[in-house]
Amino acid sequence: MSFSAEAFKRQFPLFAQGENARLVYLDNAATTQKPLSVINAVRDYYMHSSANTHRSSHRLARKATEMVERVRGQAAEFVNAASPNEMVFCRGATEALNLLAHCLCSGLAPGDEIVISTAEHHANIVPWQMAAERYQLTLRFVPDTAGVPRFDQLSTVLNERTRVVSLTGGANAIGLRPDLAQVRRQVQHTRSVWIVDGAQLAAHEVVDVQKIGCDFFVCSAHKFYGPTGIGLLYGREALLEAMPPWLGGGEMITEVGLQTSRYAGLPHKFEAGTSPLAAIAGLGAVLAFLARQDRGAMAAHEQKLVHRLHRALEASPDFHLVSQARNNLGIAAFVPVQGSAADLMHWLDERDIAVRVGHHCAQLLGRAGSNPVTVRASVAAYNTDSDIRTLLQALEAYCDFHRPTAGQLQRESGSG
Ligand code: PMP
Repeated sequence: MSFSAEAFKRQFPLFAQGENARLVYLDNAATTQKPLSVINAVRDYYMHSSANTHRSSHRLARKATEMVERVRGQAAEFVNAASPNEMVFCRGATEALNLLAHCLCSGLAPGDEIVISTAEHHANIVPWQMAAERYQLTLRFVPDTAGVPRFDQLSTVLNERTRVVSLTGGANAIGLRPDLAQVRRQVQHTRSVWIVDGAQLAAHEVVDVQKIGCDFFVCSAHKFYGPTGIGLLYGREALLEAMPPWLGGGEMITEVGLQTSRYAGLPHKFEAGTSPLAAIAGLGAVLAFLARQDRGAMAAHEQKLVHRLHRALEASPDFHLVSQARNNLGIAAFVPVQGSAADLMHWLDERDIAVRVGHHCAQLLGRAGSNPVTVRASVAAYNTDSDIRTLLQALEAYCDFHRPTAGQLQRESGSG
């Protein structure tokens, strides 16, 4: 199978409409656009199948229940889980990480340790800080160089008290992707569970949790062309079985007594209340959509774009490049030498180029390094060579505009 970004892009209606036809969308690490099949699946659910899921109920309700369990099966295939029971629907990576922080840490003893890194998204920092405070746990960090974690040195912070290692599968601020095999080798001899935050990874690579060897994996559908409001938590069956539930309510019980209740089995134990059913329908559509693509060719195309961006920025004296092309999931992070990152973002926005500026929900990384605020251009498979050319031309125009003239330079050097 060969891959054409132009043909792929034609499946995304947003780019075909009015002012968006010119849009160069390079904010894909924040969220991706949706193909027509996903939009239709969400609409069709409300048009033809809207009902709550109750196993022994009327025709529409049975249809909704079947749909949810069918999508759960697709989700298990998507990450190569051993069983659909290992797949829990949640609102997204943030909710999945909060669930894990709550359910794993409530059983720990004061002084037990959790390991994260400075490159984590806030969703993989704050829930652990909250749990550490509540259960008197110790939070440790992978050693870093100027804020960039040295995952090869993870073992130096692992010890007999380590119970949880929760690390990114790909950092959203700089694109850095750890060598997961190297992480596994270091974690596997400890008594710790290993969580992979796959929010960025799942968009760019076929995920195989059995091959990775992690205990838990989390991701959000909106990062891989799916709807917002739905994400996946994969967990090894035995570990999920052993965990207490998090939210209580309908759907997660089999029997409610006056003082206590009996909880449902996996995975419903972790799915209290009404699930986001239309979003689950959309998730089913995006998983089918991705299964029809040549994911390897998509990834190769994205890598080509991100390498081209890095080559151009590296060669330019007008930018300081914060990300590296090597082991990169599709993100270029940089700051202009003249002007400011925020100023550059507005310049690009005026030219209909969407990038993001800020700390990208990874303040620890920025604080430890020298560039807390960067411009981030993040690619998806629908980005074309022409998108990258347009961005580079706009960056050049920005620098030309801000470059001091010879007269200005003379005045500035004269004024001492
Ligand atoms: N982890 C990473 C690496 C992310 O990039 C994000 C989203 N930017 C999240 C977690 C949180 O995802 P969500 O907001 O969809 O819950």
